[in-house]
Amino acid sequence: MNLEILAPVSGAVIPIEQVPDPAFSEKMLGDGLAVNPTNGMVVAPIDGVVSSLHKSLHAVSITSESGAEVLIHIGVETVNLQGKGFKAFVKQDNKVKKGDKLIEFDVDFITANAPSGLVITIITNPMDVEVFKTKASLVEAGKSFLLNIGERREPSALELEGEEIISTPIKIVNKNGFHARPAGVLANIANKFKSKIEIEKNGKKASAKSIVSIMGLGIEYQDSITILASGPDAEEALKALMPAVKEGLNETEEEHHPALQTVASDANTGADLSKETKITGISASAGFVTGKVFLMAEETIEIPSTNQGPAKEAEILDKALASVKNNIKEEIKENKGKHSFEEILKTHLGILEDHFLIDNANSFVGAGKNAAEAFVNAVEKSVEILNAAQNNLIKERIADYKDLQRRVVMTITGAKPKILNVPAGSVLVGQEFLPNDISKLNANVLGVISAGGSATSHASIMLRNAGMPALVAVGSVLKQLKGGEEVILNAAEGYAVFNPSDSVKKEALTRVEADKKAHEQNLLNASKPAVTIDGVAISVEGNIGSLDEAVKSAQSGADGIGLIRTEFIFANNKTIPSEEEQYKAYSDILNAMGGKPVTFRTFDVGGDKPVAYMNLPKEENPIMGLRGVRNYEANKELITNQIRALLRLKPQANVRIMIPMISSARELDHMINVFDEEKKSMGLKEDYNLGIMVEVPSVAILADRFIEKISFFSIGTNDLTQYTVAIDRGNAQLAKFSSSFNPAVLTLINMASTAANKAGKKAGVCGGMASQMNAVALLIGLGVRELAVSAPEIANIKALIRTLSVKECEAFAKEAISLRSSVNVRELVKQKFNL
Ligand code: PEP
Ligand code: MG
Repeated sequence: MNLEILAPVSGAVIPIEQVPDPAFSEKMLGDGLAVNPTNGMVVAPIDGVVSSLHKSLHAVSITSESGAEVLIHIGVETVNLQGKGFKAFVKQDNKVKKGDKLIEFDVDFITANAPSGLVITIITNPMDVEVFKTKASLVEAGKSFLLNIGERREPSALELEGEEIISTPIKIVNKNGFHARPAGVLANIANKFKSKIEIEKNGKKASAKSIVSIMGLGIEYQDSITILASGPDAEEALKALMPAVKEGLNETEEEHHPALQTVASDANTGADLSKETKITGISASAGFVTGKVFLMAEETIEIPSTNQGPAKEAEILDKALASVKNNIKEEIKENKGKHSFEEILKTHLGILEDHFLIDNANSFVGAGKNAAEAFVNAVEKSVEILNAAQNNLIKERIADYKDLQRRVVMTITGAKPKILNVPAGSVLVGQEFLPNDISKLNANVLGVISAGGSATSHASIMLRNAGMPALVAVGSVLKQLKGGEEVILNAAEGYAVFNPSDSVKKEALTRVEADKKAHEQNLLNASKPAVTIDGVAISVEGNIGSLDEAVKSAQSGADGIGLIRTEFIFANNKTIPSEEEQYKAYSDILNAMGGKPVTFRTFDVGGDKPVAYMNLPKEENPIMGLRGVRNYEANKELITNQIRALLRLKPQANVRIMIPMISSARELDHMINVFDEEKKSMGLKEDYNLGIMVEVPSVAILADRFIEKISFFSIGTNDLTQYTVAIDRGNAQLAKFSSSFNPAVLTLINMASTAANKAGKKAGVCGGMASQMNAVALLIGLGVRELAVSAPEIANIKALIRTLSVKECEAFAKEAISLRSSVNVRELVKQKFNL
């Protein structure tokens, strides 16, 4: 077969790979070329019959006598225009000759209303032929040669091996679906293979090599997907991708938070900020400050109008992208170990390597846009896809795209980022803060308030790490501000007061000043023991997940470590942590605590804490399923390595070992046996300290029957509350109805600590409640004698304990337990302690 195909339209020739639609750029429909049209007249490129004319008139196929089919597609996504802007001169089955008018279209209208106005000509049938393409950069409709179909060629090696392999359906375990991070990990693996790899969900397919395309499928938790691969390494690709997807694509528990509210609340509608007004928002980072409003104008990006032609502009874009990527790589090195920031930078790098974004940018350059315009347009296309997603976490990535858009365009134009000339004592107010904005904040900024945003955005994670108070999702009411207004920001309680009256301001300033002074004073006394006024010592210990946090706890005056979540240390392991690596990590932590006791919790994996190194079954109800101790019998290597590493630690007297998620005597008895057996096989004589977490009501209720076999209890109020009130601790919607102050939870804490105290043993609390100032008196009154607290709170909690009397706390706890609800309990705390 040999068929010459003329240009159907006049204009500049653009490679098919640059069409901003993967159906064309990835040659899914066939090979060909695109033309950037100079006018809207489309003519027949070959002699033949009109074999299809779409009713939207944006696409027409001509079939030659020899059976070759040529498709002319006007614009991208122009089917949505439903015929508007198009006029046809032919009907289906009409015979046409080269140069006959087929369709006329309005170039301006199409360009303005569709993502691209390129006219694409492809050979859809036969597909296994050599396609020769014109070398000319400009073609004339019905006159210039565009394409030529050569002889049928030998199929390539790729095609020979190219049978499509399809995976079995895979259920998605990622609680938040495929948002940017898992999509990035998936694309990263897929890009290591030559084969074409796609993901299919409900009949919709997308390239597995593009983050945006993956996200565009809107894959959610528990969705079923299949992976399709064809090419020379299709089998290897599936072998690598299937387990990776099944295991959650390296997502750690930290990332498994439900998406929080992202839209601005309407609670502030109608507020008048020119007067003293209190507005509410979402607390993204706790803290209490007073300052003056500094408006952060959205930095507008100047797009140059100069254009040096496609070749030069492509070079400019390439250079800018390479430069931004290099800078990000440098920043990753500088921020090594700062887990969240490092991850955010890696996500940005992933976005800049996403071929959907980059291919689109190149296409726009090819279609005549300058480098900056092209990148802006390409980002807009990605944002469009993200915007359509149902998943809030996917939507949150739009901020990252906008951040990169600004960064790349500024690199192209050479514009310098605005130095934030913020006066001391400012509270920054803006529409929404992007990660780059946060990295520029200096000591003059006391806090931030934004109209949009969410508590789970990357910017918010950075604000929390920086300890910067932040209130987000306040709404458009902030537009009323002119700058310079006085503001009190109580981010912990989720509100801000603008233009406070003198008395309110004075009260706030007094509180800020007092808080600051008290904290400084408390820090001076942090290393001293915390003894109540009636002489009872309460051990205030660290609550950690890494060596870094152990060091911080020691520096903050911790009396030891009350909880180390060992599963956090090895969260990124690909294989089960070996005895040696565990021994090393635990020894380092023990040494960092300089002779103080350290409580190692054995692995609490499974359920909602999947780990890459274990093949855990998918469960209907993971919170009630294979968690913590329930995993050990089936995963002997996991627990044996850990027990051996823990028993080898020296001095063993400072080591406390505790088991998570115990719910029955059988489990405890089994574990004691396992520990004893291991001790025997290691030839060890020294006793070990074994305790358990009290996280399940059954253990609190039968506490006396558990404590007799062990050395201590550690009460996990996070899970104990979850299992008592039957509200998933990760459910954002129900969060407001779940509280550890519920008298039912308090009763269980009291049962466990009373049993421990009666047996002459200790009960501690290692759940989040232990770090709350307003829970301290209550817990002591309930019989708790050890608190595992986050490092920044240690000094303040110790200071508070020194003002309490156990006797008074007991009377107060008794009253609290008799109340009807957590709200009543909190009110009582406020009334008695003003906390
Ligand atoms: C708890 O449940 O309170 C606890 C400390 O354990 P985790 O939060 O790790 O489940
Ligand atoms: Mg727990």
